[in-house]
Amino acid sequence: RTILNNIQELPGDALFAIKQRLAEDPRSAKVDLGIGAYRDEDGKPWVLPAVRKAETLIHSDASFNHEYLGIAGLPALTSGAAKVILGDDSSALAEKRVVSAQSLSGTGALHIAAKFIQKFLPGKLLYVSDPTWANHVSIFESQGVKTATYPYWDAATKSLDLEGFIKAIESSPRGSVFLLHACAHNPTGLDPTEAQWEKILSACVKNDIIPLFDSAYQGFASGSLTNDAFAVRLGVKKFAESAPIFICQSFAKNVGMYGERCGCIHLIVPRQESNVNVSTITKAVASQISKITRSEVSNPPAYGAKIVAKILNNAELTEQWHKDMVTMSQRITKMRHSLRDKLLELQTPGNWDHIVNQCGMFSYTGLTKPMVERLEKEHGVYMVASGRASIAGLNEKNVEHVAKAINEVVR
Ligand code: PMP
Repeated sequence: RTILNNIQELPGDALFAIKQRLAEDPRSAKVDLGIGAYRDEDGKPWVLPAVRKAETLIHSDASFNHEYLGIAGLPALTSGAAKVILGDDSSALAEKRVVSAQSLSGTGALHIAAKFIQKFLPGKLLYVSDPTWANHVSIFESQGVKTATYPYWDAATKSLDLEGFIKAIESSPRGSVFLLHACAHNPTGLDPTEAQWEKILSACVKNDIIPLFDSAYQGFASGSLTNDAFAVRLGVKKFAESAPIFICQSFAKNVGMYGERCGCIHLIVPRQESNVNVSTITKAVASQISKITRSEVSNPPAYGAKIVAKILNNAELTEQWHKDMVTMSQRITKMRHSLRDKLLELQTPGNWDHIVNQCGMFSYTGLTKPMVERLEKEHGVYMVASGRASIAGLNEKNVEHVAKAINEVVR
């Protein structure tokens, strides 16, 4: 009877707690800048037109059913997803050096990577950016993978600490894994430039790093899948002769499939000496990933996978999806400018250019924890304690209220 009596209650998840407080807040002028989910100009969740069309096609297909998928997921999804992130002309794909499996969205892909690293790269450290998405550390540590941090955000200049980043690469133990945000860094919204990626990835190759790209926002940073895959594709090229690369890919944000849990893990096998057969390695890796999936979820969820696969394999829907991503990224950019301009109009103390210079869903505003608390308590504006604001939560109707609230709390 006393078996469970010593279990301690943990504090709730900070982000989901915001959602809860917001739901209970009776004020009509409340604004949700917490969770990273796209909202339309009315502050409502948006079902992408490409998704609506895909759903119509799927439901009108007489052969549609709810059967189990295979353990590695829907082949039409995994093959299409690999092309989205690697490019149609990828030499890794042409050389059949890519192992792809469906996962429970980006989180599930990271979880598979963590289990894989724990089993096949035992004792390797996983480096995450300082700061990073809070769940990164939880996911890897829960599988017994020890984590460390590399410098990323320089708070004084609100820019990338490139020197610190490269030094961390150079001083890490050989064979360490570096988790790199493919684009639209969460939480800072600050991405390395192409020239900086060149330096970062060259240092990674030189120091025997294994890169793990987390691609949760492809298309959100610039509106273009190609531009947002720059770092991943450069990494795949640079590591072709040296080390494997993990890619954890989510369709939560760029297809708006948040709750459907649709994602993929891709492992890129490096080119081998002529006497080693790449297909032997890819088959072995695929079988081990399948073993992980089988024991945990048996097989991945079908519905979101069917929608995304339909979008990726139908030219008309793909084109619509590309337009939808432009719609989302442009509206976010517009809101960044609108917020910055209103802060300037109000002569709010400080420089707010970082809001327009950052990209993706988030802005690391630089607001302090007490300021964030006052924003919530006195103005009904909700964001994460670190000062991260989900810009997607802004619209023409609430941006003025948010600017005035920020103006009030920083003075
Ligand atoms: N990585 C990063 C950096 C993220 O911000 C998120 C979502 N917040 C994810 C991965 C995973 O999201 P999901 O599991 O919903 O695909």
